[in-house]
Amino acid sequence: MLHIASYILDGLCLEMNKIVIYVNAFYKAKAGVVAISNKKMACLDCLTEQIENMKSKLPDFNLGMDDNYRCANSSYIASQIYNLNIVNLGVRIILNYLTNKIPKDNEGHMYNCYFIGNEKMKSLDGKEFFTNEITIRRYSIPGYRGCCVCGNE
Ligand SMILES: [Zn+2]
Repeated sequence: MLHIASYILDGLCLEMNKIVIYVNAFYKAKAGVVAISNKKMACLDCLTEQIENMKSKLPDFNLGMDDNYRCANSSYIASQIYNLNIVNLGVRIILNYLTNKIPKDNEGHMYNCYFIGNEKMKSLDGKEFFTNEITIRRYSIPGYRGCCVCGNE
């Protein structure tokens, strides 16, 4: 999903107590993800692995992806109008962090993973995940104990 350089940069940023916010759009920007890597919750490596473990509860974000998917295609992610919603969510979350208004769950853990959907999508286990309206689902994902990047706190 992500380039190895992202994980290296992530580790370096967390070592300096920085928060790193990743904003990604999936195929045709029908959905996107905003992931917040930080030492208190989970690093990028832990987030990626935990999201992989949640796979059956999530939609197949690359559903219908063309075999010859290239940046020259009109279906390319960067050419999709839906990107606006994903970027807006990313900016909103960045502003939350800059103004220290970090949304937390009932147990006081910060939300560190947001999925945004622009079209109706079902999870792999068949449940409605996104509706036809813009839908945001948020999670507090813990890192792995003993992770050499985020596991100390
Ligand atoms: Zn970690």
